[in-house]
Amino acid sequence: MLQIAHQRFTCQECGRCCRRFLVPVTPLEIEAIAKLPWPPGECPTRDFYCSIHGHAFFRHDAQNGDCVYLDEHSHCRMHAVFGAKCKALSCRAYPFEFLATFPGEVTAAARYDCPAVLANSGHHTEHYRSDLEEILQDSQLHLGKGFTAEELDGLTRESILVLCEFLRKSIFEPDIPVNALRELARRLERLGRPFVNDVETLKTVLPSMRDKALRETPPATPGRTWPERIRIRSKLLNCLRYDCQTGDFSWRTRLRQATLALKLFTGHGNPNDFDSRQPDSPFAKARIFDAKTWSTPVSPEVWDSLRRCLATRLESLQFFGRAYYGATFFKGLDELLEIADSALALARLNAAATHLGHLEPADGDYAVALIDHCHGKISN
Ligand code: SF4
Ligand code: SF4
Repeated sequence: MLQIAHQRFTCQECGRCCRRFLVPVTPLEIEAIAKLPWPPGECPTRDFYCSIHGHAFFRHDAQNGDCVYLDEHSHCRMHAVFGAKCKALSCRAYPFEFLATFPGEVTAAARYDCPAVLANSGHHTEHYRSDLEEILQDSQLHLGKGFTAEELDGLTRESILVLCEFLRKSIFEPDIPVNALRELARRLERLGRPFVNDVETLKTVLPSMRDKALRETPPATPGRTWPERIRIRSKLLNCLRYDCQTGDFSWRTRLRQATLALKLFTGHGNPNDFDSRQPDSPFAKARIFDAKTWSTPVSPEVWDSLRRCLATRLESLQFFGRAYYGATFFKGLDELLEIADSALALARLNAAATHLGHLEPADGDYAVALIDHCHGKISN
């Protein structure tokens, strides 16, 4: 059974996914693509893939950074000549990510690093059911075996679904900060599996437990201690580095990136030096650890995409197990709800380069696209 997360998406044909990301291609696909009978003079290149750390990806043009099959109108040449079905699975499936969850169940969720998903514009994702079901039959798609007993943390399917649905609904209540929900999740973990698995009691007590967590959780002020600062800086750095992957893994590029990473890690440098698509502002100017940064109220519009992104992960269960480095349920949940801290820091970074002083929805969107792109990966 395929469960599709409630989102909206219609491709805007912007070509971002074919420019910005390294798109994987399997050995079987390489073989098939190499044999495509291009009309004379139309084949862009026969040298279409590169290997990085033992994995193959579509090669990017050295001049403009686009996938070698992308044309000047942001359309795929392979698609134009041979149709969608000849493309690699990664190209056909994007922006959807699949995860085998419980026996006989698979979820599909669209990624927020696609501008159309981020903007919540277009068809409801259910519109793509037949396409997604066809992709599910593709032999190149490795779904895994679903959650292991260890990943489930001793919880039943029903208790996980009840808890995730409660958190998903709470995410959309603007008066409930995400850190209070994180505290609620931590309290539930401490109460133990028998408590959480008692679904009827759980349903009854969740609202009052949430309100208590809300009253007792101080406002988030990450960065008060050095370990916290190191943790947040490492997360930001990972996001920036991952978003800037170009396929150029020469020692010269790696050395340059390592030097820039060290600078950012110590609170200096400029993310734009990593990649010209990143905010052009000295890292220090964002003041991500200023108490004012955390205490200034942010308008609900800024976090619209963040709330939707968290809700999608909760609905699709794509935040633990194979979707997050094999993490157990509670560990994955804690890491997911911690996203809000990194998102604020990244949004401040973007705001520092544009409209210093206040956050706009574009800053929240920048942060969410970057974080969702990097938060765990489902590897095929
Ligand atoms: S990034 Fe999204 S909107 Fe842009 S081309 Fe890719 S799928 Fe379409
Ligand atoms: S092969 Fe086509 S769809 Fe796939 S990344 Fe390249 S341009 Fe995009």
